[in-house]
Amino acid sequence: MTSPLFPPAPRRLASEDDDHPKEECGLFGIYGLPDAATHTALGLHALQHRGQEAAGIVAYDGEQFHSHRALGLVGDNFSSPDIMNRLSGKVAIGHVRYSTTGDTVLRNVQPLFADFKFGGLAVAHNGNLTNAYEIRKELVQRGCIFQSTSDTEVIIHLIAISEYGRVVDRLTDALSQIVGAYSLVAITQKKLIGVRDPYGVRPLVLGRLGDAWIMASETCALDIIGGKFVRDVEPGEIVVIDDLGLHSLKPFNKAPNRFCIFEYIYFARPDSVMEGRSVYAVRKRIGAELARESHVKSDLVVPVPDSGVPAAIGYAQEAGVPFELGIIRNHYVGRTFIEPTDQIRHLGVRLKHNANAAGLKGKRVVLVDDSIVRGTTSVKIVEMVRNAGATEVHMRISSPPTTNSCFYGIDTPERAELLAANYDLAAMAKHIDVDSLAFLSIDGLYRALGEARRKNEMPQYCDACFTGEYPIRLVDHEKDPVQRQLSLLDERE
Ligand code: SF4
Repeated sequence: MTSPLFPPAPRRLASEDDDHPKEECGLFGIYGLPDAATHTALGLHALQHRGQEAAGIVAYDGEQFHSHRALGLVGDNFSSPDIMNRLSGKVAIGHVRYSTTGDTVLRNVQPLFADFKFGGLAVAHNGNLTNAYEIRKELVQRGCIFQSTSDTEVIIHLIAISEYGRVVDRLTDALSQIVGAYSLVAITQKKLIGVRDPYGVRPLVLGRLGDAWIMASETCALDIIGGKFVRDVEPGEIVVIDDLGLHSLKPFNKAPNRFCIFEYIYFARPDSVMEGRSVYAVRKRIGAELARESHVKSDLVVPVPDSGVPAAIGYAQEAGVPFELGIIRNHYVGRTFIEPTDQIRHLGVRLKHNANAAGLKGKRVVLVDDSIVRGTTSVKIVEMVRNAGATEVHMRISSPPTTNSCFYGIDTPERAELLAANYDLAAMAKHIDVDSLAFLSIDGLYRALGEARRKNEMPQYCDACFTGEYPIRLVDHEKDPVQRQLSLLDERE
């Protein structure tokens, strides 16, 4: 049975054709609104691009916490009236997740809930703790028993053993022991709490809907419920909302801002506003910079949909070349938690993209995409465009070469698998079989964000996947480079 909240979900097919880094999580929280869980489900639906493998909501009705967590999409799991009626109350938080461990298992699905001596607490987070392995080891030695492989549980245990009394002080104490890039939302019986790490790598915004307060990873999640954007939660800020209103704490040592620059390139939805900038407008400016840096004589500018579209529009406008939809994307194919067979994996890109042959035949084409990770999609897309009759194919990438892995909450392959970490430009062009290949320069990227250039001595953003300069210490990785950040209790061990 389907509720009016979501339309019936399309049948989803396995697809391994998405050669992008994967966002790991989206967060939503609301305080002071009847039907908080229903609004949270809608907010999570708007954040579905940040994680499609699992979703969860915890609500509090003034007496009890209620939780529902499940593998799969928000619309598939939060449509049943029975489930939504059970999640009653005026306070709720929710989470969508993309898994980094081998399996997505239910016990890793957030929000996590724990009963403490001060009462219940539910927490959901987006990002990675770079010392989670170290802390987890210590906690296990002290007798803590972990139920999941999630970093969130590390935070919960640190709160549990803190010697402070008030929940906010316990949380502050816990967070002062962790290193990493994170945003989190939490609820207690009396509060909604939101936090960004001191460097502000991962996003979190504050909004209002009437008298209710909202927190979300992106502003598009406020829009879907008619909420109004108030401001970004600041780097290093703990925002506490209760019946007396909003309280802001800044208990951590100040750190330089290092917002994730890849949010602007790919992760965030184009209709979101991040740090005061329209993501769509930034992507168009990125495309214009790309055209100024590396335009080549051509007949058409064609985006690799959907993520390449805004940059391709900016490129085409700057270069004065017609923009055409030369590749059509099937929107009913997405990631799935069902492992695809080799045969389906091989079909890959044809499930998701198809060349629009009528427009491509006999044309010199500039293809615009946002990034190349392994290069697997690029090879197939270029072959498809050539088979459709294009006479030349020039690939333009609206980011610098991705040469390093992310340790801050984005799932990227190991360096050894990153095309740009292993090949120079000419070899990459040969590998994906294009007539020319160009990436946006790092300064071009910063110009698109309104900066004169990247300040190499104090970069304005986290750009480590392009530069290898990690602003936050990789504590676990420094000690053991092969140990994955999250997998002390790997599901397969
Ligand atoms: S390494 Fe790249 S993807 Fe990761 S936080 Fe930094 S800019 Fe974002």
